[in-house]
Amino acid sequence: MENLQPNNDLNALKDMFKDFQNKQKKTGRRTSAEILAKYFVPRNTKETFRILPPKNGRKHIEEAFFHVVTTLTSGGRKKFGTIIYCPRHNDPPVEKLDAKGNPVFDEKGKPVTIPAPCPLCDKYKTKLAEQKPLPKGLKKEEMNPTQLKIKEENDRIYKEAVAWQAKKFYIVRGIDRGVEKDGIKFWRFKHNFRNQGTLDKLLPILQDYMANNKADFSCPINGTDLSITMTDSEFNGKTYKAISAMTYRGKSPLHTDKIVAEQWLEDDTTWRDVFLPKKAPGITPLQYLELVVEGNSPYWDDSDQSNKRWVFPGHPELEEAANTRNRDLGANDENENIEYASDLDVDNNGAKITAKNMTQEKVGTFKDDAVDVGASISDDDDNDDSSDDSENYTDPESQDGDNFDDLPF
Ligand SMILES: [Zn+2]
Repeated sequence: MENLQPNNDLNALKDMFKDFQNKQKKTGRRTSAEILAKYFVPRNTKETFRILPPKNGRKHIEEAFFHVVTTLTSGGRKKFGTIIYCPRHNDPPVEKLDAKGNPVFDEKGKPVTIPAPCPLCDKYKTKLAEQKPLPKGLKKEEMNPTQLKIKEENDRIYKEAVAWQAKKFYIVRGIDRGVEKDGIKFWRFKHNFRNQGTLDKLLPILQDYMANNKADFSCPINGTDLSITMTDSEFNGKTYKAISAMTYRGKSPLHTDKIVAEQWLEDDTTWRDVFLPKKAPGITPLQYLELVVEGNSPYWDDSDQSNKRWVFPGHPELEEAANTRNRDLGANDENENIEYASDLDVDNNGAKITAKNMTQEKVGTFKDDAVDVGASISDDDDNDDSSDDSENYTDPESQDGDNFDDLPF
């Protein structure tokens, strides 16, 4: 009788599946360029965007929370307006652990949950708690000199605290008509407390379309493209790209080719696949956030061509490990769904900041309280050395301005 060696066959099959899974894992991780291609960032004078109908259980316009903070980038320069995923606001609650690391249960024996930890949110709260109490309802004109002094100090603390607070963003999924080949993209914009933000411009137009056409704006057959007109806007002596007008173009199919339309409609990429938590090699996203709070965010330093490496300010042991690891294991990194601090060195405009368009002179003019001139961006890729200043602009949100939340765009 023939020996079928069932165990060996089974093992071979298992290996085959393992290989297959590994392959999938590898191809599953998008490169930074691929992720960038998923950002929709209006920066041409005219842009056309088509909002897609939401996938099951999702909304047309989703909400998510990100911190907008200062980090470090190549050459140790400060980079204002880095948008960082907030685990506390975006992740599900986690089990509460006691001092020994065991889960805590309530009276009914159910595990107690707490919001996911976020060192940036913690920083916001501890900073706020530094404010001294003043009698409730006391108006500024009624305050005595001591109280006025406390108020002044409280205001200063508040400003500092708010810089660490998680900010609400809206995310819309759709097609950039200018680059349809990129497939579905995600348009992320910040909530504006003065009702002067992108959402405040978008909603009335969508409502109008629905009222006038009796159709869902995102419908693949009866929906509409949106025309967005961008303009240069001055704020605090800087030029930004801002939306000057938005209109709907009228009923049109999502795509005349049914197969393309179906591909887009079936794509189940979500914003979570695109706006990923940041990290650096050898540390967890949580540790990365801790280092951001410390003012020691790690960064990929390629300012010295002959010595490109990870820098972990104030943490030589982590730096050593990161660089050893980077050399030895870089190709086999097991971390997926993670945005390396250096991978996606994008500002809020989604354009890649090119280290090469920085001159030493520009670096030299950097001041702590100044806008990061080095973060001037170019629409071109890394290979463009000839940066034209007229094409560079700073994003409003990369401002370290006082009224961050109240920027008019
Ligand atoms: Zn947070």
